[in-house]
Amino acid sequence: MSGETPGWLGSQLDTARQILEPIFGRWPSGPVDVVYPDRSPARMSFVEPLAWPTGRPRMRLKADDPRVRGTGGWPAVVVPHELAHVVHFDAMPLQLRLRVEASYATWLAGRLVRGAPPEHHTAGTSSPLVAWLEAFGLLAERYWLFAQEHRRIHRLPGASHQGPQRLVHDLAAAFVHDELSDAPRLAATTPGYVPVCELPPAGTAAAASTEGCVYRDVFLHPGARTSLGLAVADYLDASAGGILNMKDYVNRRRRR
Ligand SMILES: [Zn+2]
Repeated sequence: MSGETPGWLGSQLDTARQILEPIFGRWPSGPVDVVYPDRSPARMSFVEPLAWPTGRPRMRLKADDPRVRGTGGWPAVVVPHELAHVVHFDAMPLQLRLRVEASYATWLAGRLVRGAPPEHHTAGTSSPLVAWLEAFGLLAERYWLFAQEHRRIHRLPGASHQGPQRLVHDLAAAFVHDELSDAPRLAATTPGYVPVCELPPAGTAAAASTEGCVYRDVFLHPGARTSLGLAVADYLDASAGGILNMKDYVNRRRRR
């Protein structure tokens, strides 16, 4: 970030890291690059997979997006969402990030032209690559909201999310169970929330291009069988190896 990081942003970045790093299992070394406010023509906040001249991912946050600071009744989910993209891109080798940047930029340009609304298209189809990338952002948003709510209810200090392995494990397991239930807790409090049970079934072409389906089929179902941390590790590992869509991911699992 050029200049000083505003206090609210610094504290959001810190809290998001406390909550997300134990689940992501990795974090970029050094401070996360952030541009705020972003004055590029883009309408939405986004992450450059490969920023010049650092070669690192860089987050660009819009000052007029109510979901950045959580104003006007919107939850503050942009920072955790974009942090997921930063961690994801950071896990990819440089050559792969260059390739992803080209396709991702096309999609971002499309959003720019359409003036896409601020809520996320959990249930809308995009492309297999975009759904693959955005599923991780969706996981970060929902896990962050769930952890915040849990912390409020149980009056836990922020650091507890980083703390004993068991607390993290229990929270992640409760989250996965809740998200797969018929009445997810976040449904009542999150604008634009779509429960995963309402989305197209796994294995269809629509599911591979729908971020909510990729989120469900890559993180929630495997997370319920093993753990959310292992499901994330598998996703990041597959991505780093050049697997960037649901179909290839399923084929890879079959081969193992
Ligand atoms: Zn995103």
